[in-house]
Amino acid sequence: MLHPLIADPSATRHILKKFKLRAVKGLGQNFLIDADIVRRIVEAAEICAGDEVLEIGPGIGTLTQGLLEAGANVTAIELDKKLPAVLKETLAGYENFRLIEGDVLKINLAELMPTKFKVVANLPYYITTQILLTLLEKNLPATKIVTMVQREVAERMTAAPGSKIYGALSVAVQFRSESRIAFEVPPESFLPPPEVTSAVVVCDVRKPPFEVDEEFFTKVVRTAFAQRRKTLLNSLAVFGRDKILASGIDATRRAETLSLEEFAKLSEALKK
Ligand code: SAM
Repeated sequence: MLHPLIADPSATRHILKKFKLRAVKGLGQNFLIDADIVRRIVEAAEICAGDEVLEIGPGIGTLTQGLLEAGANVTAIELDKKLPAVLKETLAGYENFRLIEGDVLKINLAELMPTKFKVVANLPYYITTQILLTLLEKNLPATKIVTMVQREVAERMTAAPGSKIYGALSVAVQFRSESRIAFEVPPESFLPPPEVTSAVVVCDVRKPPFEVDEEFFTKVVRTAFAQRRKTLLNSLAVFGRDKILASGIDATRRAETLSLEEFAKLSEALKK
């Protein structure tokens, strides 16, 4: 069956008109209309026939179609109640597509995706960080997370220690994956165009490089960055000043200067 391409400005306008839809700003709806970007995302995710893929927010099926054409088995979670009827039509005939209606932050992803899978998504920007943290911190069997995010978020995800934008998100991403910005995407590639430039980030998930109690590590990192201007001695005082001083990490430093290894060392010392 030959399917009409959704990643095209007039096809997208036609679909929206036919279903009397408007992009809902509150749901972060910016639909891709650029076939080349869809192709490059699928390529960045190294999709092979038979890959299990989780897509968050399929919208009208634009990126989904690219994934399905590459042979992936796609499970997509969509919150907007108006979109299932649209997807039923735009993706009719693709057998390797499964739609789950609901909020990605409320669904049990471990149950939904019990075996190895890749995440590929043009994320709703209003909850990008929560989604990324959920994907990274729940120890899911995800092997690759390829997401479209605001360029500014992409830069924070991949920021090095010592830079002003290095924070809890950078540590979470880098502790659990090798990450890189694959390419940038201009506002014109979307309908409606967002106010910001976007970027596609590839995270190759791997085991953390240092052994820690992950839950406690996350707590320490978040607490340290919650007051990033303060020294560790002050921002982490709740864990015990004596433990901070005995950790071997200079307590007058700020969270933004600590490497992953130093955070691991600090968290293990504070846990004792
Ligand atoms: N994948 C489509 C594309 O690339 O054109 C649409 C991407 S659009 C940026 C984000 C999508 O996420 C929208 O379809 C929106 O309705 C959906 N969405 C927003 N919040 C969601 C949530 N909490 N759970 C699942 N989907 C959500």
